[in-house]
Amino acid sequence: PYDGPSAVEIARKRAEFLSPSLFHFYSKPLNIVEGKKQYLYDEHGRRYLDAFAGIATVCCGHTHPDIIDAITAQANRLQHSTVLYLNHAIADFAEALAAKMPGDLKVVFFTNSGTEANELAIMMARLYTGSHDIISLRNSYHGNASGTMGATAQKNWKFNVVQSGVHHAVNPDPYRGAFGPDGEKYARDVKEIIEFGTTGHVAGFISEAIQGVGGIVEVAPGYLPLAYDAVRKAGGLCIADEVQVGFARVGSHFWGFETHGVIPDIVTMAKGIGNGIPLGAVVTTPEIAQVLTRRSYFNTFGGNPLCTAGGLAVLKVLDRERLQENAFIVGAYLKDRLRGLQEKHQIIGDVRGAGFMLGVELVTDRQLKTPAKDEICQAMEHMKDMGVLVGKGGFYGNVFRITPPLCFTKEDADFFVDVMDIALSKL
Ligand code: PMP
Repeated sequence: PYDGPSAVEIARKRAEFLSPSLFHFYSKPLNIVEGKKQYLYDEHGRRYLDAFAGIATVCCGHTHPDIIDAITAQANRLQHSTVLYLNHAIADFAEALAAKMPGDLKVVFFTNSGTEANELAIMMARLYTGSHDIISLRNSYHGNASGTMGATAQKNWKFNVVQSGVHHAVNPDPYRGAFGPDGEKYARDVKEIIEFGTTGHVAGFISEAIQGVGGIVEVAPGYLPLAYDAVRKAGGLCIADEVQVGFARVGSHFWGFETHGVIPDIVTMAKGIGNGIPLGAVVTTPEIAQVLTRRSYFNTFGGNPLCTAGGLAVLKVLDRERLQENAFIVGAYLKDRLRGLQEKHQIIGDVRGAGFMLGVELVTDRQLKTPAKDEICQAMEHMKDMGVLVGKGGFYGNVFRITPPLCFTKEDADFFVDVMDIALSKL
């Protein structure tokens, strides 16, 4: 049993000593003290089904014993910075990660977060092309340092950093976008940004395959191949931000970009890569990687042995437990059941996503698509009271984000949908 400080005590310390900008989802914040597989436990030992997984972070389930063993063994052996000496942990993980990549994507740079990975990717694109302009999508989230905050296009996450050389393209959003699911029409905007807003040369284009923070928006089919084409014609590199969508989450493929039939020039990742430990990576081609030899590039903890030993264990667990297949099968089942719920509840405007990256958008009027902002908060509270934790996001904050650990079962999916059904009925 837990004998640490209570939720009230922690909340008091947090209010006094931590950032005043921190927020939480529930009227009474939860004190989560333990996690196992797809479950989290609060200070009273109450169990919650975790359908958010720390923002799509825990892919193999909480405290997976194999991953804990790998990290503990490495911690007992050696902990130090990455670059000065040889160590097998970083090399082994880089090799295993490269094996998951298509084409010529086989050089790995390790970082500590998704933000760092995207900052590095953007810098490499600028160095490689000698151009400055970056195109990203409206409603995207790419990080919280100045370059990535510039590329992020949702005002909720922006401070007044100098946003230099970033253009935000019309979001290829099949539900709310002006062109519906017509990827080709949205891609024209990328061409026009290049034509009207740049010298005709760009550094690159960055996009998620399914926007996570943006509310599980699946980039319209046909969009990415055409956008990539336009960007490459302007000399730019194409960056896939796989921080949330990557690592087997979409089920049908290991990476989100693969569902669009494109091969990026640079791929960035974080979150799921470490199953909860701080780790990120940039993977690119040997040719593009060369740009960083012009100077020294150094990251003290990027790829440290503890995190890379954990990362390698994550890849092994994903393979051995066939978690991608589980995300495919159970994810499709869950989406199907959510579609059933949509027939029953008028408030569900849209059900979307793939595998275990699913979204349910709540609207008070299906024609006008009026965001049901208060209702979603009430529903989340009811769901929490019934033992289910889910995420929320989207520009209007009215989209349930369902991104459970990939070991989520069919029974969990049924329980989840039944609980959501009751919560929506109570509104
Ligand atoms: N890219 C995407 C798609 C993300 O969802 C996030 C985090 N929400 C980031 C980048 C930034 O990652 P981090 O918080 O690890 O810096």
